[in-house]
Amino acid sequence: MKALRARADRPASPGEGGPAGGVPAPAAPPSPGRPVHTLAVADVFAALDTSPRGLASATARQRLLDQGPNELPAARGPAVWRQLAAQFTDLFAVVLIVASGITFLAYALQDPRQPGTLQLAVAILCVVVLNAAIGFAQEYSAERTAQTLQAMVPHRCRVLRDGALEEVAVRDLVPGDLVVLEAGDTVSADCRVVEAHDLTVSNAAITGESDPVRRTAGPDTAEEVLRARDCVFMGTDVITGTARAVVFATGQATEFGRIFRLTAGAPRQKTPLQRQVAVMARRVAGTALAVGAALFAIRLPTGQGLVPSFVFALGVMVALVPEGLPATLSVSLALGVRRMARHHALVKKLLAVEALGSTTVVCTDKTGTLTQAEMTVVRIWAADGEHTVTGVGYEPNGRVDDPDAVRELLRSAALCCDARLVAPTGAGHWRVLGDTTEGALLVAAAKAGLDTAAEEAKAPRIAEHPFDSVRKLMSTVHDEDGTRRVRVKGAPSEVLARCTRLDRAGTAEPLTDAGRRRVTDAADALAAQGLRVLAVAAREVTGPPGTRDQDESDLTLLGLAGMQDPPRPEVYEAVEACHRAGIRIVMVTGDHPLTAEAVARRVGIVRSAAPTVATGAELDALDDTALDRLLAEAGELLLCRVSPEHKMRVVTAFQRRGEVVAVTGDGANDAPALKHADIGVAMGASGTDVAREAAEMVLLDDSFGSIAVAVRLGRSVYQNIRKFLVYLFSHNIGELAPILAATFAGFPLVPITAVQVLAIDLGSDVMPALALGAEPPESDVMDQPPRPRTEPLFSRAVVRRILFLGGIQALGVCAVFFWRIHDSGIPYADFTADNPVYREAITMVQAGIVVSQFFNALAVRTERESVFRAGVFGNPWLIAAGLLGLGIMAAISYLPLLQAVFHTAALTAGDWALLAAVGVLPLLADEARKARLRSRAPRPRGDPRRDRKETCAMRPEKDAR
Ligand code: ATP
Repeated sequence: MKALRARADRPASPGEGGPAGGVPAPAAPPSPGRPVHTLAVADVFAALDTSPRGLASATARQRLLDQGPNELPAARGPAVWRQLAAQFTDLFAVVLIVASGITFLAYALQDPRQPGTLQLAVAILCVVVLNAAIGFAQEYSAERTAQTLQAMVPHRCRVLRDGALEEVAVRDLVPGDLVVLEAGDTVSADCRVVEAHDLTVSNAAITGESDPVRRTAGPDTAEEVLRARDCVFMGTDVITGTARAVVFATGQATEFGRIFRLTAGAPRQKTPLQRQVAVMARRVAGTALAVGAALFAIRLPTGQGLVPSFVFALGVMVALVPEGLPATLSVSLALGVRRMARHHALVKKLLAVEALGSTTVVCTDKTGTLTQAEMTVVRIWAADGEHTVTGVGYEPNGRVDDPDAVRELLRSAALCCDARLVAPTGAGHWRVLGDTTEGALLVAAAKAGLDTAAEEAKAPRIAEHPFDSVRKLMSTVHDEDGTRRVRVKGAPSEVLARCTRLDRAGTAEPLTDAGRRRVTDAADALAAQGLRVLAVAAREVTGPPGTRDQDESDLTLLGLAGMQDPPRPEVYEAVEACHRAGIRIVMVTGDHPLTAEAVARRVGIVRSAAPTVATGAELDALDDTALDRLLAEAGELLLCRVSPEHKMRVVTAFQRRGEVVAVTGDGANDAPALKHADIGVAMGASGTDVAREAAEMVLLDDSFGSIAVAVRLGRSVYQNIRKFLVYLFSHNIGELAPILAATFAGFPLVPITAVQVLAIDLGSDVMPALALGAEPPESDVMDQPPRPRTEPLFSRAVVRRILFLGGIQALGVCAVFFWRIHDSGIPYADFTADNPVYREAITMVQAGIVVSQFFNALAVRTERESVFRAGVFGNPWLIAAGLLGLGIMAAISYLPLLQAVFHTAALTAGDWALLAAVGVLPLLADEARKARLRSRAPRPRGDPRRDRKETCAMRPEKDAR
């Protein structure tokens, strides 16, 4: 867990910062004409008309009005006409345009000319235009969605204004603002560094060079500002350390603004799923052409004539091409993304939607993700005994049972904090601006009667060695009435290793082996209660300023603070859902093994008596083979006291084993693991900009619960895509089969014309397919194991289902067609296109497909659960879309105008009853198939109705035991 660690009211000390703070600046006269990087720190303030307390809020407001917001113009996408033109150059469109062209030509060459041929040519053109319009609208709305979602990611930064630390929107930064930077931040404007501690930045965004470079408080003599070692630039990342820097350029005046390229013109990357669908569509188009050509070749020699044979072949081709598919796919993906955003999971790359469904391992942080990150110090251990602290939350109301005994410990801890406690305004709550661990220490200090601000004034900070998750500690150096004192806090093992004495009621005793054991036992005992334990130490230093290692050695241990951080209530249910879904959860934390285990038990990650617990140091001792074995053999696995480098190694090891890994991260050095994982999940509320940039998904509420919901929705998106693929492709069989049957039976005309096929594919079928893409998750979506990554979209199961449903549909419509033809008693050879029986028969075929597609849509809604159990009206859009399809069909059958276009006839009530009886067959047959499937492998557990809700229900408070 990492967040803000910036101090509020300490004036910046020019050139300070211990070993990394840079050289004290030589005095130089203020000169606005000189480049800012060449000025001494004091002159930077003068030149930019600001101060070490930052700008006054009123000045900042005025400057914002004068200079405009700190933002770059929105990147322009490809021109609208280009986007539109692209729709007509897509493969389907080209095939259809060529087909239409040939049909026009055929019409022109016909003698006498047949109006039907012209209608077909125009209809195909209409299809192209309609498809292009849908595709364009989809792309446009997807772009809008992406922009809206982007705007939900917080873009804020920390500044000092009127001497107080504040969080402001990046766009409100103005020249003269004093920004406070720490590891993980993306720099929001061009700034001159005035104070730095171990500061390194990656300039990849502007120079392409990603190796971290050190930055100090300057001044520098570099000729170009870009090379100055005392400047940081918009868009670059802080990798380590902390700093304060004065903004000297914002918005388009920044270096980034200058080199800002219009990136949106670059082609959009397709996800593997989109690529799979595109490849498949191309294959289908190829097959359609081949089959069409073959049938043309078969029919031509039978004396059917060139044009009728061509029109016939065209019908076959059009029947096979899934015209509505690309649009349906993009709608379905966009819908999934929107649904996830509603559940606090922001998908930045579409890839994550697919990968989520096949996730097999989730490596999760603890603090903030599994727990609430609302820390409260409840126990303090000192050499002379243990003390209790009362009160919960950040309100400094409560008491320490013996404040005098722990005052020095809490004073040290509070002085070594960057966070700030913010009193409520109005009816609000007390808040912590910064790291919540530090917030808890500040609250405990206040409960012991300490006034942190007064203590900081008495002991100003003169240097600091910032916290990082590898060292797991931080220290600050203070000037206390002429004496220099180092205050240290951090993980007990790290701090204890640097201590040589133990404080007992104000007297420092040598720390013996027995004393160390006592401290370790005390820390373990607190951790075993699920408390987060921090050790606090101090020392006096003399002589010239030392290095970090010197400052942090020979310390006197003051004691331990144990803080509780209750689990998030929704996590238990989410963990259980993941377990049921066959997803392994591995906790990866920087915290103490006992704390980790206690929390893991509370949230259900650990249920056995003896989980496998490995520390970072133990992982270091394993080679890759041993690590692979550990991951394979350990059932419940907790990785504790690990650094981001360990996380990266574990992710890679899991992937070597063929797992699909989702990993959470918040710090800057989590970025490699986030990038490497199959799904990097960054924290939206507490995470750093760098982590958010590296991740595929951002959790707006930081909660593990949202990961489980996202997995569930990811799975359902994939399931829905399969549903409409089955729906769309099975009816192609229904369209093709009567044509083939007629050819082989020697019937001279087509049982369904190309125009009719188009009316189905782009009229009655589009809306139900879209509605299927919006299906809520199936009840058992989390009761199944993850989908194998390598499983193609058109898996055997999908193809079998297409053949099964399409086959039944085909049999039905063929039967209806030939029954009507035979019933008339007219020989095949006597049929002409204008024969009323023929018109009725082809109307029956078209209506038969539409009716059976209505039932087919209901059948494909579930994969194994009965539709009647899931609720026939569960997706009202689908019913409405199906009825619309039937309405379109009725219009084609009864309206004279449409009858003329489609060559159709009015159906009787008896015809509709027959079609309904035939059309319902796929649904009934599929129900029987599902029942057989269920009886062979009963559903694992869970109430089907419960899970159809879109959210993971919360487990009641009893977890917060
Ligand atoms: P998780 O990875 O689950 O979020 P974490 O928050 O414990 O765990 P880190 O933030 O890397 O992980 O912290 C590692 C350890 O460093 C903590 O367990 C704690 O002992 C110590 N620590 C955390 N925050 C601070 C701080 N502000 N100052 C000093 N030590 C800290």
